Amino acid sequence: MAHPRANGSQEQIQYDNHEQQHRETTSADNLGAPSTIQRSAPCEPEIGPFVDSPSPTYPASSLDPLQVPSEVLADSTSARRLDAHCCLARNDEGVPSTALVRFEYLNQGGANVIFKILPWWHASVEPGPPFVFLDAKIDGTKAIPLHRKVLLRQVLRVNKGLEKTLRCDEVIFGFYNHVRPLFLPGSIEVVHTDSETGTMTVVQTSLPSLDLTNYLMEHRGVMLYSTVMAYLSSKSDAIVAETHSESSTSSHLTAKRWGICLPDMSPMPGSSVTLEIKPKWLAQSPTAPKNAQRCRTCALQVAKPKDPNKYLCPLLLVEGSRDDLYPWVSARVEEQLAGTADLPTRRQMELITHVSSQISTYLSEGDGRSLLRHIRLLQTLLDPQGVLGRDQFSADLRPLFDYNLRLAMTLRDCSLYIKVGYTTSKMDAAIIDCRLGDMDFKSPDKIVDWHQKEWDLINCAAYSLESGDHLGCVILGKARRRQGRSGSFLVNT
Ligand SMILES: [Zn+2]
Repeated sequence: MAHPRANGSQEQIQYDNHEQQHRETTSADNLGAPSTIQRSAPCEPEIGPFVDSPSPTYPASSLDPLQVPSEVLADSTSARRLDAHCCLARNDEGVPSTALVRFEYLNQGGANVIFKILPWWHASVEPGPPFVFLDAKIDGTKAIPLHRKVLLRQVLRVNKGLEKTLRCDEVIFGFYNHVRPLFLPGSIEVVHTDSETGTMTVVQTSLPSLDLTNYLMEHRGVMLYSTVMAYLSSKSDAIVAETHSESSTSSHLTAKRWGICLPDMSPMPGSSVTLEIKPKWLAQSPTAPKNAQRCRTCALQVAKPKDPNKYLCPLLLVEGSRDDLYPWVSARVEEQLAGTADLPTRRQMELITHVSSQISTYLSEGDGRSLLRHIRLLQTLLDPQGVLGRDQFSADLRPLFDYNLRLAMTLRDCSLYIKVGYTTSKMDAAIIDCRLGDMDFKSPDKIVDWHQKEWDLINCAAYSLESGDHLGCVILGKARRRQGRSGSFLVNT
């Protein structure tokens, strides 16, 4: 897969010139626009073949096939359907050493635990047992083991097994069938409300003719068998027995479970830094009050402050200048580089300035800006009415409203990872690898919570509170500039 780079691109030019026009015309004026890709219907069928299968990026293994245990043969059909791997604990004579890997706990989120995949060398030096990944394309009773060089730049994501969270196979299905198509040319169905008559109609709206899927993380399913689950759960107490799913066949902690292999975007001390950005709401909430002083994300930050020193109004990511973004970016880069680069202080500061400058430019003038504006466009197209308007929809339109809202909220909870390589000897133009992660298609169970949260923000005046912290919000800045302009107009007259 070609990695997105920090250089300018045709996509960006297209966005800078036409996005505003596109936003203003797509909902009503592009009726019947030709589409090259139809999204799947707004319903969730049974797990089945992908609409857009992940393109195979794994090089063919040159390793000899291994005999597959019976437990793998028993469910090879589902593994094959997800284009998956199978992971087993193996250290017998027949397994080539170049196939052996180990797992190391990396971190965890609300629903998942992440493990690094590292080479396994020898029992005398390794803290844990070796594991092997097999290709699920089983031939008879044998399958080819994966050479570890194709696994070492990835992490393994394992669902903790909590209630109301998706199994990893459900996450993979939702990602490829519902989320990924939004980053390809095509069209989406949206409900359009006529501003004069209030009439609601379903319209087909075309997406930009851009393929942005290189910015998405390939999600490779991997069936983790009992010996693997026994080891992983011993390394993280957060992993509990998976009892929430009707299709779970066992409530044992060591029951086999789906995991996902994802690109490893974590920083490598001495050679790369990773900036993780939560873009959140890149446009104002459709149901924000008219006297709003701040955007949806800033309103939530006022109501429930989190890490005030690390906060950034997300609208700056799509409207702010390089200078607007630089202080925030620089502080984040410094957290990773200061004191860890094994360099004299002055050289460290030069490195921090250099990396921060590259990222700020990428986000304000480069491909990062184009990508974030695409996400803003999708958020706006998919949720033009806001969750509080849901009751106005008739029974026949509500499934589409809910489906699009779930997609919009998925895109309001994703993460943008920007990994920048560097050398301590010279300050070359950085190679930037930028990926969107955390794009699990949101469950309809969450709609009630979203409704309540929006209602609470309005009721506690989080949008409009004048004395609250303005947080550098773009919306307040615009309002003040308007007031300033109108004030000077009055004076001059
Ligand atoms: Zn804001």
